[in-house]
Amino acid sequence: MEVLRDMQIQGTKVPHLVILPLPFQGHINPMLQLATLLQSKGFSITLIHTHFNSPNPSNYPNFNFEPIPDGLSDSQLWTEDPVKILYFLNDTCQAPFHDRLSRLLSDGPVTCIITDEIFYFTKAVADQLKLPRILLNTGSATYATTTASLKLLQQNGLLSITVGPLCKFSPGSSNSLLTQDYSCMAWLDKQAPQTVIYVSFGSTASFDKRNVVEIAWGLANSDQPFLWVIRRGSIHGHDQVELPEGFEEKTRERGQIVNWAPQQKVLAHPSVGGFWTHNGWNSTLESICEGVPMICSPYLWDQNLNARYVSHVWRVGIQLENGFDRSEIEWAIRRLMVEIEGKDIRERVRDLKENAMHCIEKGGSSYESLDGLVDIIMSL
Ligand code: UDP
Repeated sequence: MEVLRDMQIQGTKVPHLVILPLPFQGHINPMLQLATLLQSKGFSITLIHTHFNSPNPSNYPNFNFEPIPDGLSDSQLWTEDPVKILYFLNDTCQAPFHDRLSRLLSDGPVTCIITDEIFYFTKAVADQLKLPRILLNTGSATYATTTASLKLLQQNGLLSITVGPLCKFSPGSSNSLLTQDYSCMAWLDKQAPQTVIYVSFGSTASFDKRNVVEIAWGLANSDQPFLWVIRRGSIHGHDQVELPEGFEEKTRERGQIVNWAPQQKVLAHPSVGGFWTHNGWNSTLESICEGVPMICSPYLWDQNLNARYVSHVWRVGIQLENGFDRSEIEWAIRRLMVEIEGKDIRERVRDLKENAMHCIEKGGSSYESLDGLVDIIMSL
């Protein structure tokens, strides 16, 4: 770190990092948080990004933004399976990424590329341009251990350090791709402490109409106040949400629905007492970092494993075992928010939150790992 500061004082060129995030909310957030942290350590940052879900440059006035075409059409965005979009992007981004990086190299040296591990095409580009590449895994470490052989990676020197929870480590500005509806904060202010169940299934999970009906009646019958995020495009075949007849009447006094919420602020609000989540890793971490217990409805990928850890290993949440069933939902909400069992779960999540906060304090494991990461980059 001293080396970087000295270089800035002496006017020598500071090391230049090229960052390429995967253009999905749960991947953009940690990547930009990491880039902000590295910039605070003295690195200069160029962010190469797709047109699709491009981050807002005005939130990061000190980064150099370089857009690349991705070839995605509007109709693909609203209809295509997210996994197919990932394959597509890995195909279409390779050539423009190579060109943009070559142009940057003709202006001056690049220390290394930092990219999302799902952008596997970057290996070929990094090899061609003889640039070192660091991968950010935005999922949980336990997921990495089950999808790859941790030992093998370690033996080959390919696995070194995870530096989270980044959401608390690197506060910074909002990276939200969708407009966050802050009106729900005033509504939360009017609710009693720890009574509201916050319901959100992240940026990619989608449901059929039957699921939505069960979710709606589960919430209505639980008798608890709720804040429910229904994202545009999250209900198969329906652009607009149609809730079951009688639902609005029954919940008008104690329910709020938004398109997209300022999630971290919601979770930090004193009236929020539970989070019904799909257990995307960011949502899971954000919930733990605010000491909020969870109801788990994993959708795909690492979410199943995360949910199991939340409910069965750390025991800071309850997993719904039968998909979306209104009686089970109602019972889970009441167990978490009203019954004595919920009190124990809440105490455990507060302990976990304390542990997470220690990690990012001076001397904590993540604090040390961040310095280790800077050392690795400087040794490249
Ligand atoms: N998020 C948000 N508002 C919402 C719902 C989600 O800002 O209404 C943010 C949330 O804080 C998290 C990200 O979107 O940082 C979702 O990431 P996660 O890994 O949980 O799930 P994914 O969207 O990748 O499935």
